[in-house]
Amino acid sequence: MSEAFLPDANPPTWLGVMGGGQLGRMFAQAAQMMGYRVAVLEPSQDCPAGLVAERLVESAYTDAAGLDALAAQCVAVTTEFENVPAESLSRLAERVFVAPNASCVSIAQDRILEKRFFVECAPHSGVMPAPHKAIASHADIDAIGDNLLPGILKTVRMGYDGKGQVRVKSREDVRAAFDQMGGVPCLLEKMLPLAYEVSVLTARGADGVSVVYPIAENVHRDGILFTTTVPGPNVSDDCAKKAQDAATAMIAQLGYVGVLCIEFFVLKDGSLVVNEMAPRPHNSGHYTIDACITSQFAQQVRAMARLPLGDTRQHSPAVMLNILGDVWYEGETVREPAWDQVLALPGANLHLYGKEEPRRGRKMGHVTFVAETLADAQDHLQAACIILGIAP
Ligand code: ATP
Ligand code: MG
Repeated sequence: MSEAFLPDANPPTWLGVMGGGQLGRMFAQAAQMMGYRVAVLEPSQDCPAGLVAERLVESAYTDAAGLDALAAQCVAVTTEFENVPAESLSRLAERVFVAPNASCVSIAQDRILEKRFFVECAPHSGVMPAPHKAIASHADIDAIGDNLLPGILKTVRMGYDGKGQVRVKSREDVRAAFDQMGGVPCLLEKMLPLAYEVSVLTARGADGVSVVYPIAENVHRDGILFTTTVPGPNVSDDCAKKAQDAATAMIAQLGYVGVLCIEFFVLKDGSLVVNEMAPRPHNSGHYTIDACITSQFAQQVRAMARLPLGDTRQHSPAVMLNILGDVWYEGETVREPAWDQVLALPGANLHLYGKEEPRRGRKMGHVTFVAETLADAQDHLQAACIILGIAP
């Protein structure tokens, strides 16, 4: 279905989301704020989004009956989980408006298609990805040029939070890593000298109008996003404009509908390299809930219901800290973190995802500090790290 408007998309009708994680939960909360009802499709019952949605369709992402139940209930469906099979989105699209669509999602699911898109888009975006090569066999490894080493071998599919990645120095390392990953299709990327990392959230409506958020500066720890700071202390106006223009060009080239996040590297020589994209709201965009006029989740609701997109302006400097299961541990003892002390800090906005079991490395929530100045927000985040036992 692809009418210009969704005349029947007025609240309290139903919006659907594929995936029941925290992104689905925050999407559901934003949709509910606008008066929508939300149906979540997810295989497991105790999922963060299922706990808040009006309906949980408990089914595999590929189950025809589950997909048809979601399509029958909803006027539009989106996805919060990047690895929903494209065929499932295509099946939904036979009966209901799906944003983003299967073809956009399938590009973002596959590092080779994604890199190809970035290269093809470069004349419009002005930004290239890292030098890379597809590795599907030992013959491909023999043919690696010296310019790609040292590098990072990444699985083509299903990578997230640094999983499915091995750093390699030599051809022998690549061979060992490729075998260790079971010989699945991989991509070898040249290791680049990063100065810092940024991401740009953008959104586009079915009418082709797009919006872009302020650029966010991201720090990772152990492959997982640690903090997002906006405005980024290292980001120059020139870099911000380049990245935002590139994101705007990319979302238009894709003909994408919905929220899209594009991650970039800024190299030590100041040049910008595009890394990857997420076809959904993104962890680095959580600050928009507390610091922007329209959150990334409210924006997703607007895009899929074909409502006018919202104002992306940021009203306060913000720093977001991810809260992993680790902060529940004191040695081997599991205890509740001191939320009262965190919430006593000025400008603290605590978001917990309703997960029962705090496992190390598991994203349990985040806290965003907003303040009149970035320095104040950063100070309060430092204080929160001390309270939570996180090395600042
Ligand atoms: P995400 O959690 O963002 O989905 P991911 O597992 O898909 O992560 P990437 O974003 O590709 O993986 O890489 C994870 C991190 O590894 C990057 O944020 C960056 O710090 C580092 N990295 C990845 N590729 C390169 C590269 N070519 N050169 C230098 N560092 C890199
Ligand atoms: Mg990444």
